[in-house]
Amino acid sequence: MEAAQKAVQSVTDGVKNVAIGGDKKAPGAKKEKKAAKAGAGDASAGLLELKPAPEFLQSRLDLFDRLKKRQDEDFAKKPREPITITMPDGSIKAGTSYETTPGDIAKGISNSLYKRTVVARLDGDKEQLWDLDRPLEKSCRLELLDFEDEQGKMVFWHSSAHILGEASERRFGCSLCIGPPIDNGFYYEMALPESAAVQTTDWKPLETIVSSIVKEKQKFERLALTKEELLEMFSYNKYKQHIIKDKIADGTSTTVYRNGPLIDLCRGPHVPDTGRIESFAIMKNSASYFLGDNNNDSLQRIYGVSFPDKKKMAEHKKFLEEAAKRDHRKIGRDQELFFFSDLSPGSAMWLPHGTRIYNTLLDYIRQQYWKRNYQEVITPNMYNSELWKTSGHWDHYKDDMFVIDMEEEVKFGLKPMNCPGHCIMFGHRERSHRELPWRVADFGVLHRNEATGALSGLTRVRRFVQDDAHIFCREDQIKGEISDLFDFLHEMYGLLGMTFKLKLSTRPEKFMGQIETWDRAEAMLRESLDEFASAEGGVAWTLNEGDGAFYGPKIDITIVDCLNRDWQCATIQLDFMQPQNFNLEYMTAETTVAKTKEPEATDAPASGPPKVKVKNPQAVIDSAHAAKEAAKEIITPSKDGKEAPKKFERFLKPLSSGCARPVMIHRAMCGSIERFTAILCEHYAGKWPFWLSPRQILVIPVGVGFFPYAEEVAAIFKKEKMFVDIDLSGNTLQKKIRTGQLAQYNFIFVVGDEERQGRQVNVRYRDDTSAQDRGNPIGIDEAVEKIAKLRDERGSYNPFPSIVKPAAKEAA
Ligand SMILES: [Zn+2]
Ligand SMILES: [Zn+2]
Repeated sequence: MEAAQKAVQSVTDGVKNVAIGGDKKAPGAKKEKKAAKAGAGDASAGLLELKPAPEFLQSRLDLFDRLKKRQDEDFAKKPREPITITMPDGSIKAGTSYETTPGDIAKGISNSLYKRTVVARLDGDKEQLWDLDRPLEKSCRLELLDFEDEQGKMVFWHSSAHILGEASERRFGCSLCIGPPIDNGFYYEMALPESAAVQTTDWKPLETIVSSIVKEKQKFERLALTKEELLEMFSYNKYKQHIIKDKIADGTSTTVYRNGPLIDLCRGPHVPDTGRIESFAIMKNSASYFLGDNNNDSLQRIYGVSFPDKKKMAEHKKFLEEAAKRDHRKIGRDQELFFFSDLSPGSAMWLPHGTRIYNTLLDYIRQQYWKRNYQEVITPNMYNSELWKTSGHWDHYKDDMFVIDMEEEVKFGLKPMNCPGHCIMFGHRERSHRELPWRVADFGVLHRNEATGALSGLTRVRRFVQDDAHIFCREDQIKGEISDLFDFLHEMYGLLGMTFKLKLSTRPEKFMGQIETWDRAEAMLRESLDEFASAEGGVAWTLNEGDGAFYGPKIDITIVDCLNRDWQCATIQLDFMQPQNFNLEYMTAETTVAKTKEPEATDAPASGPPKVKVKNPQAVIDSAHAAKEAAKEIITPSKDGKEAPKKFERFLKPLSSGCARPVMIHRAMCGSIERFTAILCEHYAGKWPFWLSPRQILVIPVGVGFFPYAEEVAAIFKKEKMFVDIDLSGNTLQKKIRTGQLAQYNFIFVVGDEERQGRQVNVRYRDDTSAQDRGNPIGIDEAVEKIAKLRDERGSYNPFPSIVKPAAKEAA
């Protein structure tokens, strides 16, 4: 995602498992939090910041000044030559190398543009972000990015992290570690002296220091240093030392940035000065481990968010409030849908009402499968590691799998995905071109070994089910299949009231298979995308050049919920590799004709072409050579005569004559049903549409005398397979209605004497505020018919539009 975030990731990757300072703790041992030492230290309690300032601030500044002088001198010697700067609208500005800055260009257009601009991007390259005050070195194309730009926003938040870092050094005299931008703001990670913990009472003082930093409009100054100079500059900070030693190659240099007294190891870029951060707030603090490894030092993280104006901050806080109300973990608890037990972290306990939603979703998907000619299958949950070796998961995905020791030297793995099982099914017998496309769907239970710390509600789990299917097809069928998937997406997300965006990721630099195959497949994907874009209600698509997986191009689908948040759920991924790994093939039209004339082949495996064990699967091109190799590799029985444990060898055989390789399409419309239910929970804010609702009808008798009639009504609707409850409590009518509304029943039927007499129900419909008050009674038969229709159509309309609030009541 964001470049800066990636940078942090690259800092942390590869340095895991490295303990810092030999301070290894026993697993589970927790550092005692020294709350008393929190804040500015007890000696200076009540003070905003440390007095005197930490000693390292001044020595760091002295070194900076000395080296900055050298850089300025070097810089003065750089050639001043005319350059041209091309703007996005095609206009060309004249400039001078090592003199003209992107900021100059922006100011030349308008001062307000300069003030709005966060950072510049050169030559359309996401890796070439440029400080507004940094002189351009040569002719370039220039884009000026503001806070609304995704990269601009990340630079803004990253710059804000520096300000938070400065405030933290001044208040705590802490050792800073890393301060990256994240999805909703940024954080700074640090070690306080004597392992003290940050307190919520520190937030306000930190924000006060930040305000003064913003008022000072401290400039961000860039300086390149050698590795040795960096080590000297950060000699007081063992975490920075570690990062410098680990991530910066000997003999190279990198940059630091200064703002006010803070000098931080950083590749930049930043906003021109701290005055840009008009609105700043600390959101939370927490404990963490250096580099995310619990063998390392325990650290403190402070999270913040910032905006270029106060209005945006207010909007953001409102959004957070709304998101918190909709948090699926809260709704899951309030509506008794699911919970988690410490005895199986990351695996939801689906309560009866949650299970209703889950199953209704699956029913819907099964109906779609029926209509679209998918075949549902059931496959094992665990497989011998040999399967995972064939599919490549053992080499590349084993750490994320649960592995089980079955017997000596035999390991099984719980499946993290269904694809290899479906390949086995396809290869189970000979396949004819007539069987294609073969669409296999599987609601198999999947397990992925997510770290405990990464688990989060239903959105990050260990046990889940996907609406997973694999389509095995001929190359020329790709387009038709993709078009059907778009239709599927359109129908499903339309029903749920969500929109989606499509992105095509094409052949990367490293890829497998033939270029021609890729070109043909990509051309078909483009055609389907174009057709879908121009169709009624279609969706425009964008290109993500070179971002496909090495084994096939893919279409990324992002859905947008009603809070305008993006979610990645659905996937469409072409795969040229697994069919090869599993030797999948089908008889082409020509072979099938020839085959029927030959004598019937037996089931004996010997009748097939010899299986060949190969070291490099892609090296096999010559079947004669392969046959020779096969002869050498025949497995011999064990010497002692005992039956050896069943051995699996990985074979790659050349295509049989007259056969072709199918293309495999991995596709999911919801992705994980667990995660998707969480998204729906938040999207609907717990107000489930009738068809998906776990609480559809509540019958409320107005008094004890009407209990039998209420029970009779409930039985009628239950018979229609609706989720109906009766409130037989001793509460008042008003209280019962209120409780039913809070529980989000779609319909509340109030029944009393009038209703019993007329075999009617008095209907309140949740989603139509004009029908909240007692309306006209409806005959039971009519109610059953209309509500069943609403359900079967999966509608979200009021089936009783005649129920309106009486005008007189409106006036009152
Ligand atoms: Zn920075
Ligand atoms: Zn798959």
